[in-house]
Amino acid sequence: MPAATVAHCGNRQMKTRLGKCIFCSVHGPFTRAEHPIPESLGNDDLTLPMGLVCDSCNQYFGTKLESTILNYPPWSIERVAAAVRTKRGRFAKFIGNGMSLWSTGFWSHVVFAADPTKNPTIRLNPDGTGVMFVVPPPDYHFLLSRFLLKVGLELLALSDTNDINDHQFDPARRHARFGEPSLDWEVAYGIYPRRRDLIISTREDEIGPIEERQLYSYELGVMEDGRIIFAFMYITHLFAICLTSDRLGNYIAAFNAGNEFHLQSSRR
Ligand SMILES: [Zn+2]
Repeated sequence: MPAATVAHCGNRQMKTRLGKCIFCSVHGPFTRAEHPIPESLGNDDLTLPMGLVCDSCNQYFGTKLESTILNYPPWSIERVAAAVRTKRGRFAKFIGNGMSLWSTGFWSHVVFAADPTKNPTIRLNPDGTGVMFVVPPPDYHFLLSRFLLKVGLELLALSDTNDINDHQFDPARRHARFGEPSLDWEVAYGIYPRRRDLIISTREDEIGPIEERQLYSYELGVMEDGRIIFAFMYITHLFAICLTSDRLGNYIAAFNAGNEFHLQSSRR
């Protein structure tokens, strides 16, 4: 695609010109469908217009960044519990921390195998309930910040409210694509322990009620000080990151005080 190509949505021009990769600035090739939210998190239809993410960056994000971070908890475990299928159509599984989890194909019903006597990260109660303590790998927060910046920048490009090639996004694009160990990019993290608003619809089928649930949602917002914040909810987990600065600033104070949120450093 020539560098000068401009996308048209109806009679409107997109704010970000197509034909220049928003992460590495090369002018192509652009032949691969770029999913802002990975397919393995349950997104099978939301893709970017061609000409925003080059094939090289598409491949890097898919095979290096996403495949690594999504194998870490909580992503890996939530995918199994939510019976999300992999790109190849199989149910996700989680093996690690001395245990194995397999999806049954039903929401929150998993097959679990572990030896509690050998695994100090699991506490099982007599009533059958239990808690898993999963230790994130040392590079988790570093990769998490890069992954969230990648997703956030792409969704912002899709929303067409900003020119993603603007210099205010340079640190974010560099960190997402290349990883800058000197950057200590803040990530806010919160959890809704018992989120009940995920069911979108219920219908009866021969085998019983079939519920459709929302796996993810996101918000992009501008703070009074100009910071552009990306908040991403995956099942019960809420993540937030600033796309224009490595600091979240006043955003944390604006969070719902009813939730517990923690700042995480991305530094390794
Ligand atoms: Zn690129």
